Amino acid sequence: MNTASELPDTQTTADAAIPQATGYFASRSDLPFHAPDFTRISDDDYAPAFAQAMAIQNAEIAAIVNNPAAPTFANTIVAMETSGQMLSRVATVFFALTGANTNDTLKAIDADISPKLSAHGDAITLNPELFARVQAVYDKRAAMSMTPEDAKLLEETYDSMVHAGAKLTPAQKEQVKAINTRLSTITTEFSQRLVQATKDNALVVEDKAMLAGLSDAEIESAAKTATSRGVDGKYVIALQNTTQQPLLPSMENRDAREKLFMAGFHRADKGDANDTRTLIAEVAKLRAQKAALFGLPDWASYVMYDRMAKNPKTALDFMQQMVPALAATQRREAAMLNTEIKADGGNYEVQPWDWDRYAEKVRKAKYDLDESATRPYFQVDRVLEDGVLFAANKLYGLTFKKRTDLPVYHPDVTTYTVFDRDGSELGLFYFDPFQRDNKRGGAWMSNYVDQSHLYGTKPVIYNVLNIPKAPDGEPKLVSFDNVETMFHEFGHALHGFFANQKYSSLSGTATARDFVEYPSQVNEMWAADPVILANYAKHYKTGAQIPAELIQKIDAASKFNQGYALGEVVEAALLDMKWHSLSAPQAAAIDTPEKVNVFERKSLQELGLEIDLVPPRYRSSYFSHIFSDPTGYSAGYYSYLWTEMLDRDSRAWFRANGGLTRANGDHYRDTVLSRGGTMDYFQMFQNFAGRQPNVQPMLEARGLTEPKK
Ligand SMILES: [Zn+2]
Repeated sequence: MNTASELPDTQTTADAAIPQATGYFASRSDLPFHAPDFTRISDDDYAPAFAQAMAIQNAEIAAIVNNPAAPTFANTIVAMETSGQMLSRVATVFFALTGANTNDTLKAIDADISPKLSAHGDAITLNPELFARVQAVYDKRAAMSMTPEDAKLLEETYDSMVHAGAKLTPAQKEQVKAINTRLSTITTEFSQRLVQATKDNALVVEDKAMLAGLSDAEIESAAKTATSRGVDGKYVIALQNTTQQPLLPSMENRDAREKLFMAGFHRADKGDANDTRTLIAEVAKLRAQKAALFGLPDWASYVMYDRMAKNPKTALDFMQQMVPALAATQRREAAMLNTEIKADGGNYEVQPWDWDRYAEKVRKAKYDLDESATRPYFQVDRVLEDGVLFAANKLYGLTFKKRTDLPVYHPDVTTYTVFDRDGSELGLFYFDPFQRDNKRGGAWMSNYVDQSHLYGTKPVIYNVLNIPKAPDGEPKLVSFDNVETMFHEFGHALHGFFANQKYSSLSGTATARDFVEYPSQVNEMWAADPVILANYAKHYKTGAQIPAELIQKIDAASKFNQGYALGEVVEAALLDMKWHSLSAPQAAAIDTPEKVNVFERKSLQELGLEIDLVPPRYRSSYFSHIFSDPTGYSAGYYSYLWTEMLDRDSRAWFRANGGLTRANGDHYRDTVLSRGGTMDYFQMFQNFAGRQPNVQPMLEARGLTEPKK
């Protein structure tokens, strides 16, 4: 039976039981591309719409479960995929606004609705009758004729339910529940102890002379912190969450530097009430035990099931490949800093608390780039239209038409129709560039409408950034960092625009955590491409092109001090992966604070970097990304490095094949940007580059190769 070609037969299911949708979100908007009609939505609409939309999806799921017909791909898998359409319409608009243009009403609804949405999702994923039908279809898959995308949808639906616990026995489910409860308690305890430890271990200085090198404002702020903490007349330097502390480069007194560094380094391993080490050991043990209940060797294998790297070994091998070049660079950098220290009259070898101070001196002397020299060349509108969109035209043949007829939630938001290479409409683009008090920090991309051939919908995509806004009447100039961010976010947008999928859940950027940042990083390469740069980087007053040496300086600076900068991240990523690739018995054997130290030290030593000069960005005892939240970034910190590897290798491919050409763009679109989450990521990369990804270009980009003689 060829079930895949059937359309979801919602007509035969118990339609009468499905509540009638009402209000704005009941159907797709009437605007072009079904763009959100902000003129018709009020804050009061969301709460009832969410409630109604969840009730509708529950009824839709019940109809699937109660369908008297035998389970098929269409009546089960596709029916699940197409359930909850109203919910996704409400949620996409709601969460777009809570991110970019929130207010107290939206915040209150968010706090109320978020736990409800997560419970709603869990109830579907863990519905045993629903899973029985999914399992029945899955078991027949070998005999079914399916498109690769259908097969992927089936696999993802099945895997995600198994991952949530659908195949566990009732006793195992109880065990998982108990583990989750305990994990939630101790990860919360970890956060609380760490907050307190970070506060308590702030550096207290009695003698102002120890603070030599800090600015008056920094010293005043340290005095104020002291007053607020009841030690009036002294100075308190609060700790930041990383190993290195931001004030270290300015501090002239070496003893003070060492004290501040050590206060941070040992903040949570002092054997007091805020020591986090026994908690870490227990988190690692419980996570390994939970993985074992799923029949998996370790936590990393459990959480990485849908990632590109798939298992801890792949991630660890990848990190290991960077070590020889990285360790050599660390030694080279240390020697350079030792020379600098001697020149400065110092009679000692560089230590971690000296590193940033002397690196900063070298950076200033060799690579200092005065931002005020570059900013006049980067006007936000020109960067967008003559840079970002121009690059998309050169590479992919896209054209853009600004439009003024669509409602927006804020006057700073602009919209463009995106036309494909054949002139047909491809989608709609919203651009919201400027910082606002009601916008959260950072930059991001998402969809108002997902591309889907099943629904016949084209992508409606937005980019949100936080560029400081110049006063009215002044040119809207941006830093080169923000220029790169604009290219980055539009890289995500391209991934969304080129989506060519039947199912929205596999469409566009719906890809693995260690893949999704890859296309966006690749798009950053065009920011400094000579052809693109010449087209957008023109002085706002004179129209002169940006001098080449300014761009060369930016490039040279990006290669400086990378033995440290990359090394500390690799070490943190290694610690994350080592803790999460322990088996349950291995984790259980690490049962004292001392053994936590031994495990951390041994793991780092085995890696082979200069760990005493370049300690990890986070030690285990204050690695809140991986220990303070039940899921968070555990076994995921390597993702930043992994996508950078894919990115740099892809840039190398573009360069080797002629750079900025339509042929290259079309090839990248065909092999990667149009594929969504429909196929194996290694295969996707293979199809693009003709080989497997290679770490070498990343090392070269960071200057981790022998300097040219
Ligand atoms: Zn991104």
